Amino acid sequence: MNLAEARTALGNARRVAVLTGAGVSAESGIPTFRDAQTGHWARFRPEDLASPEAYRRDPETVWQWYAGRYADVTRARPNGAHRLLAGLERAKGDGFFLATQNVDGLHTRAGSEHLAELHGNLTTARCEGCGTVTPLPQPEAFTPPPVCPGCGHRMRPNIVWFGEFLPEEALEAATRAFQDADVALIVGTSGMVYPAAGLALETRREGGVVIEMNPEETELTPYMDFSLRDVASKGLAALVGEAPA
Ligand SMILES: [Zn+2]
Repeated sequence: MNLAEARTALGNARRVAVLTGAGVSAESGIPTFRDAQTGHWARFRPEDLASPEAYRRDPETVWQWYAGRYADVTRARPNGAHRLLAGLERAKGDGFFLATQNVDGLHTRAGSEHLAELHGNLTTARCEGCGTVTPLPQPEAFTPPPVCPGCGHRMRPNIVWFGEFLPEEALEAATRAFQDADVALIVGTSGMVYPAAGLALETRREGGVVIEMNPEETELTPYMDFSLRDVASKGLAALVGEAPA
């Protein structure tokens, strides 16, 4: 398949499923977990900041880390890739499904409405008592830990940590959407990170077209109908026929 054929396939598709990963956030300047581990945080192992055990042991430190990351994403802005995907959702309507491995909330800020956040969201907290999810106050007004407005329990970062399962409902919805998709787009994710590989292969197994956008070859490349070797914003602009915003 070439670019023109990929554009036609996407244009004609009634059902489109998209998975986005770190490459999409990188264009907005969102540091990766490890890139954010500078200064004070450099001496921590990732699992000392992002695991249920670490949170049980030292919730203050874990919340300080996440408050900093929340401040990072609040300062960032959605980029052309986020906006093009929100536009594609408006064009495809109910036939569109977006799943993301990113936790920065930028898809929502760009206007995406139906979104499965497989790894959680830095801009919200989840009640340890009743499970309620609420948005955090603005970073300058935020003193962790937040307290549940419903039941008064302490709330934890709404993030999937090391050793935790992905949210079952979101993962099932994503699996169904990728099985049903006429075209699946794998954008800015290496395929090594679960569940990217599984979702792409669901589409392929059911006879759909699978297209990746990534500046580099990935482990998924051999299974793709078409690979666009570019960053997400330019790749999506080439595929949906709009100039990068
Ligand atoms: Zn609660």
